[in-house]
Amino acid sequence: AKEKGRNNYQLFNSQMKSASLEKLTMEQELRRAIAKDELVLYYQPQMDIASQRIVGFEALVRWAHPERGIVSPGHFIPFAEESGLIVPIGEWVLKEACRQNKHWQEQGYSPPPVSVNLSTRQFLQHNLTGKVAEVLELTGLDAAQLELEITESSTMDVEYSIDQLHELKNLGVTISIDDFGTGYSSLSYLKKFPIDKLKIDQSFVRDIMTDPNDAAIVASIIAMTRHMKLKVIAEGVETEEQLQFLYHNRCDEIQGYYFSPPLSVEAAELLMKERM
Ligand code: C2E
Ligand code: CA
Ligand code: CA
Ligand code: CA
Repeated sequence: AKEKGRNNYQLFNSQMKSASLEKLTMEQELRRAIAKDELVLYYQPQMDIASQRIVGFEALVRWAHPERGIVSPGHFIPFAEESGLIVPIGEWVLKEACRQNKHWQEQGYSPPPVSVNLSTRQFLQHNLTGKVAEVLELTGLDAAQLELEITESSTMDVEYSIDQLHELKNLGVTISIDDFGTGYSSLSYLKKFPIDKLKIDQSFVRDIMTDPNDAAIVASIIAMTRHMKLKVIAEGVETEEQLQFLYHNRCDEIQGYYFSPPLSVEAAELLMKERM
């Protein structure tokens, strides 16, 4: 038993070591990725259901890894958040999304506004508004072309969030609440936040056709946004049936594979050409 205990201990210890080694390697690789410009943005179109127009592009980061190919954010964003690297990554994403949107305008495209995901660490930075203003100034992008997505979990400190959101709103950018319904949701504070849009999380949308509870939740969120005069977008829409359900429940916009997956810059340009 003693022997077994020691082996377990050694096993556990070596697993711990390799886990932390893996993290360290990941961190070093991520730092290199930022320095070597290996991050790229894909853009997922958002469609207004009634007019069928493209009303937004959500910027989603990918890692163009020299050996592993395109790595999705689920594989590195959690590490980036843990290590704090999400802050430089997020700043790169913000600048690149604004630069690209402005560049498209200069090339004669009519790009919709771009939505950028803000991590909690970014949202908690006191100089965030200054940084956003700086990027808008540097890239020459109109603030009306920028939407910032924050999650409910970033807004635990209600007073701080109200101030931060007011500062950002004063720049002229749009604010949306991402993954709505999955976080700590006190509906009463929502009223106090100067936000423009709710993004209904895809976990509720996925089963709207088969799960009456999810259908009820989605229908209620949409009804609530109408009362609060907020825009609402459903994420993860994959089928015509889901689209019909959302349309009949008067949801404004959709995002999801049904309309389009996230697109490379070239593919987004083709889509804009087709639609212009
Ligand atoms: P998110 O912000 O909720 O982004 C939506 C995710 O859903 C994207 O995954 C998108 O590709 C995926 N998706 C879109 N339509 C559908 C659909 O119809 N069905 C299904 N099953 N999935 C769909 P992606 O690009 O892998 O990003 C995953 C998450 O990584 C994002 O979730 C976001 O939390 C995070 N992320 C991505 N880019 C950034 C970034 O620049 N900064 C930060 N802080 N987080 C980011
Ligand atoms: Ca998002
Ligand atoms: Ca401030
Ligand atoms: Ca989301």
